[in-house]
Amino acid sequence: MKTGTTRYNQYSTHLVQRYGEKVYKLPVNLPGTCPNRDGRAGWGGCIFCDEEGSGFDCLPNTYGVKEQIAKNKAYFQKRFKAKKFIVYFQAFTNTYLPLNSFKDNINQAAGEEGVVGISISTRPDCVNDRYLDFLSELNEEKKFDINIELGLQTVNYHTLAKINRGHGLAEFIDAVLRIKKHGFETCAHLILNLPWDTCEDAVENARILSALGVEYVKLHSLYVVKGTPLGDLYERGEIEIISMKEYVERVCTFLTYLDPAVVIQRLVGKGPRESLLFSNWGVSWWLVKQEIENYLEKHDLYQGKNFDYLNGKAVRDYIQEE
Ligand code: SF4
Repeated sequence: MKTGTTRYNQYSTHLVQRYGEKVYKLPVNLPGTCPNRDGRAGWGGCIFCDEEGSGFDCLPNTYGVKEQIAKNKAYFQKRFKAKKFIVYFQAFTNTYLPLNSFKDNINQAAGEEGVVGISISTRPDCVNDRYLDFLSELNEEKKFDINIELGLQTVNYHTLAKINRGHGLAEFIDAVLRIKKHGFETCAHLILNLPWDTCEDAVENARILSALGVEYVKLHSLYVVKGTPLGDLYERGEIEIISMKEYVERVCTFLTYLDPAVVIQRLVGKGPRESLLFSNWGVSWWLVKQEIENYLEKHDLYQGKNFDYLNGKAVRDYIQEE
């Protein structure tokens, strides 16, 4: 019988199956910006983004790539006797760098002992063939797995405009297709409780990711940071955030529509510790995770339970009749 934790495709299990042991992520925080802040795609950034560009739990970006890797690696080696690692270029938009700087950063990570994967976080409108070609050349012998993490947040392009993402759904689809063409994997970041989205949008998120064959997903409930445009809306009472109960139901519904092959890299996220106006309904992230797992078990739900809509569903009856 499935328990709550085995009702979705967990990342930790996937890593052990793929690499034969536990694998640890080494976050790298590069100084940088984002086209949605400097005017190329938009000004001011996404309405929820803090100044640190989602790199709040990384080492300071004044350290070089090698130094950050070495420090984080030493920690995991000492604490867990870790041998295999994924270097994770986490903060800001890592492909929004001149090609030469991008190459230099990736080359530094690729040469590290024990690195089985490189994960590069970016925006869908910053996935360019020249950068992907470089990654293909670098990894001709397939020495490590390359994963591009795309911040999408929602497939609802009306909401994307409201949160000032500076891109729509088309850029995401285009990026996923380009990444696939180069033989790399994609991870999509989603926030399922954006104030303008409903449960139907959550379902459509699952359906589109499944149809595109996205390999990984990271979920994050909305957190609100003081001093951001979202923080201002929140403080003025102009947005409402759904209850934790509704959120739990929404995540579970999302999972039921998601292809069971998609690996859930993160079920619940954490916000920065400082200046938070709202995060995870004031409870610890693991409690939200537990609630989701309990709900799945209680209602006999599991990832992929409603995944029956692709591959010409409407003609399946004909095939069965033949
Ligand atoms: S794309 Fe990322 S770094 Fe840029 S503004 Fe949005 S959340 Fe911040």
